[in-house]
Amino acid sequence: MPNKPWMNQYPQEVPHSYDYPKMNLANILVDSALAYPNHTALDFMGKKISYRELLKSAYRFANALLKLGIRKGDRIAVMLPNCPQGVIAYYGTLLAGGIAVMTNPLYVPREIEHQLTDAGVRMIVTLDALVGRVTKAMENHPLEYTLVTGVQDYLPFPKNVLYPLKAKKDGTAAVPVKYSNHVLSFKKLLESSSDAPVHVEVNPEEDLALIQYTGGTTGFAKGVMLTHMNLVSNAIQANLWFYKCEKGKEKYLAALPFFHVFGLTVLLNLAIYTAGTLILMPRFEIKQVLKAIDKQRPSIFPGAPTMYIAIINNAEVVKYDLSSIETCISGAAPLPVEVQEKFERLTGGRLIEGYGLTEASPVTHVNNIWGRRKPASIGLPFPDTEARIVNGLTGEDLPLGEIGELIVRGPQVMKGYWKRPEDTAATLRDGWLYTGDLARMDEEGFFFILDRRKDLIIAGGYNIYPREVEEVLFEHPDVAEAVVAGIVDPYRGESVKAYIVLKDGCETTEAELKSFCKERLAVYKVPKVYEFREALPKTLVGKVLRRKLIDEEADTFNKS
Ligand code: AMP
Repeated sequence: MPNKPWMNQYPQEVPHSYDYPKMNLANILVDSALAYPNHTALDFMGKKISYRELLKSAYRFANALLKLGIRKGDRIAVMLPNCPQGVIAYYGTLLAGGIAVMTNPLYVPREIEHQLTDAGVRMIVTLDALVGRVTKAMENHPLEYTLVTGVQDYLPFPKNVLYPLKAKKDGTAAVPVKYSNHVLSFKKLLESSSDAPVHVEVNPEEDLALIQYTGGTTGFAKGVMLTHMNLVSNAIQANLWFYKCEKGKEKYLAALPFFHVFGLTVLLNLAIYTAGTLILMPRFEIKQVLKAIDKQRPSIFPGAPTMYIAIINNAEVVKYDLSSIETCISGAAPLPVEVQEKFERLTGGRLIEGYGLTEASPVTHVNNIWGRRKPASIGLPFPDTEARIVNGLTGEDLPLGEIGELIVRGPQVMKGYWKRPEDTAATLRDGWLYTGDLARMDEEGFFFILDRRKDLIIAGGYNIYPREVEEVLFEHPDVAEAVVAGIVDPYRGESVKAYIVLKDGCETTEAELKSFCKERLAVYKVPKVYEFREALPKTLVGKVLRRKLIDEEADTFNKS
């Protein structure tokens, strides 16, 4: 790679070019289990699972898949909170040559249906309490296999840390599971299966390990195709950047969900690659998190800004010893400088900001962990990652310091969008990934994100695509027009606000719209604030000026 301004800022220990091994992603687990068989891989509510046990369980899972007729390239959805079963299903799928489709357990039936049918999933692995929801979602295209695990199944799964699974109005409450030839027990399947090593040949540069759903630039979720090589490279790039960490020594606080690619790469794959211990948190519950840091002493804690905000603002935080924390990478959304400083004072560790997107497995930029960093900057490109600021339409480079679209190239950049060649062609041009984010680079090669070209709202690290929410609002019989935008939220970074124009003579209330949305969208996408208007600002061609609404909102916020 030619010399770039950021290379002068790289710590000496970080190589400028690395020979990334071409292997099945699951081999990171095989290698760590061979080198550190007795080392704890997973610590789940005090129950410890060694690398040897984890690999054996993954082999059992892979053998079970092969016996059920699952073949190379088949898609397997994993819809679980962070728990050992999820880790086993993920690596077991890869060992069998399958493709994992990580699915958010908060999804409601229409979201599950879209993702699973789009990916052509043959099997899902999920919790007993979620089976009702999955069955309802897949009414019209039943899955071949549903593998069910549960609260008391395989490992104790404390009730109080589960996702909110109470009865819902849409009839998707937890119901007793009816086992059959298609609905199988995860535990029984594993117990009856061999732990002999499985070897299914994959081409790491071409074959997919993951189809990860993201809204991209056009609203409805699209599948991002990530190869084994993409994901192996990003885990290794992260490890090169963490150059002071020793294999077999680190403990990772796994509070980020593995169903998001940030958690999957910077936590799960990185920890397994470095033979670390993952302290699994099924959900971000502040007291549990503080307790885990105090008692289990993690050194590495990647997170979203909201997690660090929740910690610094917790009234009881001083009661806990947080001094084990050494390194934290914040990603998924901008990290306020004030939060960074407060968190570092509180823990004595380093909290640095990074940047990425699903299409890049996801990390492309990070600040120096132990070296130089710049406030409000996403830092420098990862090793072997090139980045440019260009005119997004023409692809021409802009002069240094000017704002333009950030484009990136590197071994972690996706193969394309699943079954969407046109979207792929628009986003991947000559090997460069057009991120849709507006950024600038300074003379030392540090990058700053300024705005998003895409309409994405990021609330608490979760991505929300306005169009998806708007489409739900439009389904309401009383709604004439609807537009949603992100508004400033001191805790979640942004939250969703809906601007509504009702049809003549209709009187729907905020509460009614909220409950309408709740039945159709995951809870984090449901607008928190509603404003009823006579009309919405529009361009001459009738396109609603979302930007104008956001600016009005910012004005009000600044004056308050
Ligand atoms: P996702 O594909 O879900 O990982 O979302 C990727 C998007 O999150 C990026 O395109 C950015 O818009 C946003 N993002 C990620 N990290 C940051 C950051 N540090 N600052 C600002 N936006 C970010």
